[in-house]
Amino acid sequence: MKNIMFFCIPAHGHTNPMLPVAAELVKRGNHVRFYSFDEFEEKIKKTGAEYVSCSEYLSEVSEEEMARLMQVSNTEMTIQDIRTTLKMNDFLEAEFKSFQPDVVYTDAVCFWGKLNAWNHHVPMVCSTSTFAFNQMSSKYMKHSGAEIKDMLTGLPKISKELKTLRPYGYEVKSALQLVQNDNQTDTNVYTSRRFQPFAESFTGHYNFVGPSVFSELKPQKENARPLIYISLGTVINDRPDFYQKCIAAFRDMDVDVIISRGQYVDAKKLGDLPDNIQTFERVDQLEVLSKADAFITHCGMNSVSESLYMATPMALYPQTGEQFAVARRAEEVGAGIPLTDDSVEGIKKTVTAILNDKKYAEAAKVCSDDFRSCSGAKGAADFIENAPHTCDDVDPIGEMNKVNRVWQIAFPIFATAAAITLVLTVSVWLGIAVGLGLGVFSYPLSMRVQKWRYNAVVKKHKLK
Ligand code: UDP
Repeated sequence: MKNIMFFCIPAHGHTNPMLPVAAELVKRGNHVRFYSFDEFEEKIKKTGAEYVSCSEYLSEVSEEEMARLMQVSNTEMTIQDIRTTLKMNDFLEAEFKSFQPDVVYTDAVCFWGKLNAWNHHVPMVCSTSTFAFNQMSSKYMKHSGAEIKDMLTGLPKISKELKTLRPYGYEVKSALQLVQNDNQTDTNVYTSRRFQPFAESFTGHYNFVGPSVFSELKPQKENARPLIYISLGTVINDRPDFYQKCIAAFRDMDVDVIISRGQYVDAKKLGDLPDNIQTFERVDQLEVLSKADAFITHCGMNSVSESLYMATPMALYPQTGEQFAVARRAEEVGAGIPLTDDSVEGIKKTVTAILNDKKYAEAAKVCSDDFRSCSGAKGAADFIENAPHTCDDVDPIGEMNKVNRVWQIAFPIFATAAAITLVLTVSVWLGIAVGLGLGVFSYPLSMRVQKWRYNAVVKKHKLK
């Protein structure tokens, strides 16, 4: 029997996958303490774990900060995460002393869990509710202009906030060190190895347990006419304009439609509905997906996993960088089509293409079988009980970066030397132009070098 501490940020998408793991560990006789927030108390207690409330340590947020959090601003989330870590410091210090944990299981972006495990030298396993993201797999993300602006303007704010951690003994060089998935940290990932992008870039410290969909339901697509399900998830779903376009697209088609319109959109805003279309504030998504023939989704990790689990092909309509990564992978495995044109005609055309070509449903079925064969909560619990893990695997990212570092030093030296030589021997303007040109191309060139190096490492060690 082990003493196991669970930590998670206040978010359903991050908490939900940890619940069956907690239940499994409790069932095996372990003492599980789950540090979370009152909104999650009921479902945590249902797992049999001991719930410890951290609600009083959440930092107070202004209206402006709340608005940024609602827009899923990574900067704002990082800042709030750091502030909560500080507020919890004394409390967790005492908890680690009294509970004497054998292992900590923490969400990968829950700073207070990670930092306290490191500071108290307790074996730690991370829980990653999205794909595992490293230098290679993060290339799957496509950030919007607003996200890039948020990241760039946020960097100085984050480094200022990180400095506040130092007096408490938390040595953190950068936010990246806190949020990235490195190849030395034991990590449970809630997807399959097959669905993870660049799976070969992760060492044996990664345990791909399959999506946290725990349902006995099997796909049953025996509808009189096709059933289309539409949802933009639970966060950025205040999109009456989009639901209206979907209604217009499908009102005269021989299909049934269920729209989960979310907590913000008043049903009245959507006008009179034809008989074949129904909207709900929230539905039992797994139940609906088990029957649906197509799903228009915002590509949240949970929604896409659930859709594939239920062998439902998708029209992919991502809004954030992370959702773009999930959408790209779903498209790559052949189980969806990007909804790039979100006009009435575009929606109609994309969904009709999915319904008319069986290959999308067949690809989704292959994913369903793959997901259902994963080790799930039991595999995740085994991994936690046996932590820390040793692993002699080659670290492809580490090996790739050795060359990258040489390139990062050598290229600016070469560019400067070339520019100076041209200034001195040919002409000042040519020297400046070549210098500027090399500067502009340094990023795409370094990306090329990185890709080339990565492929060479993968080939050398036969990782694929
Ligand atoms: N969900 C649900 N009913 C609904 C809409 C969503 O149960 O009507 C659930 C869905 O099954 C999924 C979660 O909410 O588990 C949404 O998570 P996801 O990661 O897809 O998106 P997010 O809401 O975090 O953007």
